[in-house]
Amino acid sequence: MEKIKRTKVVDLLKSTEYDRTVNVKGWVRTKRGNNKIAFIALNDGSVIHNIQIVVDVPGFDEEILKKITTGASVSVTGKLVKSLGKGQPVEIQAAEIEVYGTADPATYPLQKKGHSMEFLREIAHLRPRTNTFGAVLRIRHSLAFAIHKYFNDHGFFYLHTPIITGSDAEGAGEMFRVTTLDAKNPPLLENGEVNFKEDFFGKQTNLTVSGQLEAELGALALSQVYTFGPTFRAENSNTPRHLAEFWMIEPEMAFYDIHDDMDLAEDFLKYLVQYVLDHNSDDLEFLNKMFDKELIRRLQSTMETKYKRLDYTTAIGILEKSGKKFEFPVSWGVDLQAEHEKYLVEQHFKKPVILTDYPKDIKAFYMKQNDDNKTVRAMDVLFPRIGEIIGGSQREEDYDKLVRRCNEMNIPEQEMWWYIETRKYGTVPHSGFGLGFERMVLFITGMKNIRDVIPFPRTPQNAEF
Ligand code: ATP
Ligand code: MN
Repeated sequence: MEKIKRTKVVDLLKSTEYDRTVNVKGWVRTKRGNNKIAFIALNDGSVIHNIQIVVDVPGFDEEILKKITTGASVSVTGKLVKSLGKGQPVEIQAAEIEVYGTADPATYPLQKKGHSMEFLREIAHLRPRTNTFGAVLRIRHSLAFAIHKYFNDHGFFYLHTPIITGSDAEGAGEMFRVTTLDAKNPPLLENGEVNFKEDFFGKQTNLTVSGQLEAELGALALSQVYTFGPTFRAENSNTPRHLAEFWMIEPEMAFYDIHDDMDLAEDFLKYLVQYVLDHNSDDLEFLNKMFDKELIRRLQSTMETKYKRLDYTTAIGILEKSGKKFEFPVSWGVDLQAEHEKYLVEQHFKKPVILTDYPKDIKAFYMKQNDDNKTVRAMDVLFPRIGEIIGGSQREEDYDKLVRRCNEMNIPEQEMWWYIETRKYGTVPHSGFGLGFERMVLFITGMKNIRDVIPFPRTPQNAEF
């Protein structure tokens, strides 16, 4: 038989050109039938649905058919016909089947039955082959694409900020050291400390916790830039919303104040939700059915509503008056915990919330100081089920105020000279924010644990795969 070019399942299922010969390749999800006819459900990851292969059993070598079990990889050539059965528009009448690789039913872990998320994490090398992870990974891709599209369409430039950084002053979290020194026998100074002058970069270096500071440099030249890259935090937080390695989207905009910043954040988040609603409906319907019956409704409602904007001080008042017993007691000055964020979003306002003007002592040195001398122009976006999804602010553009704040917070001025210098030459009001990519995927997929929305999670005590 002449060799026919492979067609993806997603395209075959949409096709109405019946009675032509096609080739499909993929992994067997199930095989059922009897000694006359067999049905193979084949999936190639291009779409959540399988294509049905109909096999006229007597016409095939028994040895080949025996190899076709759940998990095996095959190439099937045959006629694409309108399906007589319910549940699929088309099916393939197999004429030729080639088995690439078998999957021994005695050991292949992904047999046709429900598996716990915990178990699937232990087989992260195979879990992309499940319906759930297929759906999550396709949505993750779609979201990444939509992010680039949004910024490109809005005149932002994609700026690549370094992964290895020489400053540990960003203050966003504990950092991972990057070094080529011999851990067992590092060069020492006279006082016994490690001599980092002999390290690869001639100084201490770390994996970045955020691309913001460098993104600001870009914004102060190109007006609007964004980063979209991996960030690393060596915090020992074993929660369903923290990873040690996660992806962050950080737009920075010159000539934006905090209100412009909030408008952008809200428009951007709504665009992303709408994009996935429009482009990933099959995957969303699957996740809605299997995991979270409220998912699609929740996504639609965050599209329709205007986010509630209020300042931190007012929010603290609401929490204090709520009569709720929080694990972490509330008073002015405390950093909000997940339980507080959830109360505001899910019980009090019942919509996404943007909190502004936080106490300066719980926020970073670069945030613009308010005239009250107590608060800074921070803005965090809080989402249902997630809590903080975006952290942002207007940045301090006043040279003297920035330097003073660095000193107050023990940020070494000489190390941050390049950042501070942008306030000396042609400084402008500017703002930006960071969106945690996985938290957004978590929200959109309705999954419960952040470990299940990234292909290969990095968490404390876990760097397998
Ligand atoms: P949180 O208080 O939730 O730990 P944060 O205040 O440390 O977050 P920022 O430094 O403001 O977070 O980072 C910006 C965004 O990055 C957050 O709004 C969140 O969406 C995401 N993010 C922060 N830390 C993590 C993490 N460890 N894993 C995944 N996403 C994260
Ligand atoms: Mn934050």
